[in-house]
Amino acid sequence: IRCYFASIGMTVFPSDGSKPEELLRASDIAMYQAKDAGRGRAVFFQAEMQRKLVERLKLESGMHRALQRHDFTLHYQPIVDEAAGGALGVEALVRWPGGDQAPWVPPAVFVPVAEENGLIVKLGDWILRSACEQFARWRSEGLRLDYVSVNVSVRQLREPDFVAKLIAALKDSGMQGKDLQVEITESVLAHGAELERTLGNITAQGVRLALDDFGTGYSSLSYLRAYPIHTVKIDRSFVQGLPRDPAACRLAESIILMCAVLGKNVVAEGVETEAQQQFLRRAGCTAIQGYLLGRPMEAADIPGFARRLRSTARTATPEYIIATSPHTAKIA
Ligand code: C2E
Ligand code: MG
Ligand code: MG
Repeated sequence: IRCYFASIGMTVFPSDGSKPEELLRASDIAMYQAKDAGRGRAVFFQAEMQRKLVERLKLESGMHRALQRHDFTLHYQPIVDEAAGGALGVEALVRWPGGDQAPWVPPAVFVPVAEENGLIVKLGDWILRSACEQFARWRSEGLRLDYVSVNVSVRQLREPDFVAKLIAALKDSGMQGKDLQVEITESVLAHGAELERTLGNITAQGVRLALDDFGTGYSSLSYLRAYPIHTVKIDRSFVQGLPRDPAACRLAESIILMCAVLGKNVVAEGVETEAQQQFLRRAGCTAIQGYLLGRPMEAADIPGFARRLRSTARTATPEYIIATSPHTAKIA
């Protein structure tokens, strides 16, 4: 049986327009709202809808232009694992500097739009290649970095040639698979069988998979077990309440324990205070990313960051360098 749901857009004369074309355009906008809201609905036109549509069209055309003009750039945020001998990785984060003193458009605004209209495929190709090229440049300058981590959207993974492009990006920059980490979100895992082979082909290159923003999507233990996820990144929202909020503390401890049981690496995102880091360290999570260590920065600032980090680690107390947790100890 096939079910069809009509989506209806409604408009009122004369408040929404005095000419037939205006009324039709307004009802069309309302109809798309009805579709977006899940179909099978009737929606009245509101002036706010028009404003949002115009804003979105501006954003979309701005992104096309920015891609052509090479306006996008990457910043890098350190990820440090003090237990693994101070292993240092960086996450590539895309930036869109608005021209002429305009404020930068945050990725949380433009990435979802790029995912919807498909531009993320082209933008994502550029991000992956640029991050790999930058990694190779750092290496050739003598910088010891363990890996670069790149965010990849579902839309990119669904492209049939994604893995071929990833292999080419590694080869062209002389990188090994282990030098690269790919960050995916739980929504990727929800695509199940469709992407399973792609994920397998990625890890077959030695590239590690990290599950980003863990706990904010449809987290499922069976996904975690079934897919070749190497690292779980605990979302910032769980870290924020540490160490004062007892619920946040129990949740963070449970995620860390669960990862240890499943043999997954764990990284805490959005660590801003010493107290949060100490709590995480005691709970068994020694790998962190966040403003406490360093904000996302330009590529040129990473070598200086690495130098400072290594000189601090040399002079730090042993407790800073090797912190074992009661949980990890119990499981081992
Ligand atoms: P994400 O991948 O979870 O990246 C971490 C975000 O948290 C970054 O925001 C980073 O600046 C921010 N952050 C890191 N440490 C702290 C902290 O201590 N406190 C606070 N308050 N924030 C912190 P950003 O750069 O604005 O990126 C937001 C999201 O946009 C990313 O979340 C990711 O989902 C998406 N994104 C960014 N770059 C890319 C990209 O190159 N490709 C794709 N597909 N998505 C990207
Ligand atoms: Mg990420
Ligand atoms: Mg995240």
